[in-house]
Amino acid sequence: CFAQVSAEEAAKIEGVSLVLGNNMKHRIVELVENLHNDEKRQYVFERNKLSEYEELPVETYEGHTRAFLKVQDGCDQFCSYCIIPYARGPVRSRDIGDVIKEAKSLAEHGFREVVLTGIHLTSYFDEKNGKGLAGLIEEIHGIEGIRRIRLGSLEPMFLATGFIEELKNLPKLCPHFHLSLQSGCGETLRRMNRKYTPDEYRNIVKLLRENIPGATITTDVMVGFPGETDKEFEESYAFCRDIGFLWMHVFKYSPRKGTPASRFRDQVDNKTKEERSRKMIELALQMKQENFERFIGKETDVLLEKPIDGSDGDMEGLTPHYIPVAVKTSGDKSGEIVNVRLTAIEGEYMRGEPI
Ligand code: SF4
Repeated sequence: CFAQVSAEEAAKIEGVSLVLGNNMKHRIVELVENLHNDEKRQYVFERNKLSEYEELPVETYEGHTRAFLKVQDGCDQFCSYCIIPYARGPVRSRDIGDVIKEAKSLAEHGFREVVLTGIHLTSYFDEKNGKGLAGLIEEIHGIEGIRRIRLGSLEPMFLATGFIEELKNLPKLCPHFHLSLQSGCGETLRRMNRKYTPDEYRNIVKLLRENIPGATITTDVMVGFPGETDKEFEESYAFCRDIGFLWMHVFKYSPRKGTPASRFRDQVDNKTKEERSRKMIELALQMKQENFERFIGKETDVLLEKPIDGSDGDMEGLTPHYIPVAVKTSGDKSGEIVNVRLTAIEGEYMRGEPI
């Protein structure tokens, strides 16, 4: 992203001979090989020329548990703090045929869960085949060997009622949704150029929970956005508390050169950002605990990923709801899905007793 938005600056760094912007990654080997001694070259195209999805097929498969499958690139939303629309270019989606081919190959290599990712995943639309995100999920759902489909970060304003209703009939879809929030205060959201209100966000969560009972919600929250007063922060805090997130990634705002928010007056001082971040993280931990408590005694399945360092034969894995679980196993069982009962909370994990 730095190379794309600041190509000249990147080229001036000592030792840099080649600067490649986005959509040029697939040519990196060839361009490096063709570079002559002492030559300096730049291949960086303007945002409006980045219209094609850059296909970067996977050629090696390490591990065999969860695979991240990128299906979309770019963003047209221009949130006032974010450099991504400038750095990654406009929305473009991967051809559904290429996605299915890769998903089948992942299944053949033993991956049980695919996590669909993109910069702005909810904008996925394959024009050639007329399929949006729901259509893509349905296609992947039909692949033998794929047992779980998880969605990466979703933008709330793009989750229409019809979309949510389509999802409830797909049993392989994990009942865990990462809905980007950023702030629970309407006024802060407006300055962020986020295009929803807290009430609209709340309604999306309600709809998800009505259609997919027990669904867990995780999110990203920013503190210390320019102009965020104590009152606005308190509003955001109360909103998060009210939603009851399974987990929140808490970020302190930091200015990105070239974005509108970096030029806003009323930047919040570091000490205040630090205090708000600490308070929000405490809330995140508290809500995680409450969510975990809700699962005690429940039966679920766990996709085992890797041994827990320093434990006595425990492996860690995730449930469909995104609860991290420790399970005692005999030997390395990574990639296996086991049925467990969740019996206790042990630090960052829940204990899963095999059934
Ligand atoms: S925060 Fe997300 S939606 Fe907003 S501009 Fe950045 S990538 Fe796009």
